[in-house]
Amino acid sequence: MKFKVDEIYDEGLDFEVFETKQCFDIDSPDCSLTEDVKVQGKLDKTGFGIRCQGWLETSLSASCSRCLGDFGFTVKSRLRVHFMPKVEVDDPENEIELSELDIEQEFYEEGQIDLSTPVRDLILLSVPQIRLCDKGCAGLCPQCGINLNEKKCGCKIDELSDPRLAVLQKLKDKFK
Ligand SMILES: [Zn+2]
Ligand SMILES: [Zn+2]
Repeated sequence: MKFKVDEIYDEGLDFEVFETKQCFDIDSPDCSLTEDVKVQGKLDKTGFGIRCQGWLETSLSASCSRCLGDFGFTVKSRLRVHFMPKVEVDDPENEIELSELDIEQEFYEEGQIDLSTPVRDLILLSVPQIRLCDKGCAGLCPQCGINLNEKKCGCKIDELSDPRLAVLQKLKDKFK
């Protein structure tokens, strides 16, 4: 996902690219890309560097945090990156004050910017920490481990193991 800076003209450069899912190396049992990644947007020259604004779209497969079953979902996220030319940090003449922008900052060198890293970061950020195959996922039985979305089991869950229920149980006993 590389673009040559001198191919970005004053009016900017509109782009639409597909990158194969293998390029991003997001492939774990917990979470993997199932489709190629589409990125579209516009590159503009700013005073200091190159601004990229656009969207990425792709699909992933993840395992549910409750029932551990695999499920697929799509991600569509806004991509905003500002690329600055890389400068030697030990040369104070070249030091550029990084402005407080609410967007990701990247550096570029050799006259080309590379969207691969910010796109990969954004895909990973777009995956929720708690992933549920369904809001109402019943999860696994804590005793026998059966997937309660598929089958019911005969396990009697010890209600007293939940401290809130234990309090209720005590109250009930009182009024017997
Ligand atoms: Zn689930
Ligand atoms: Zn059970």
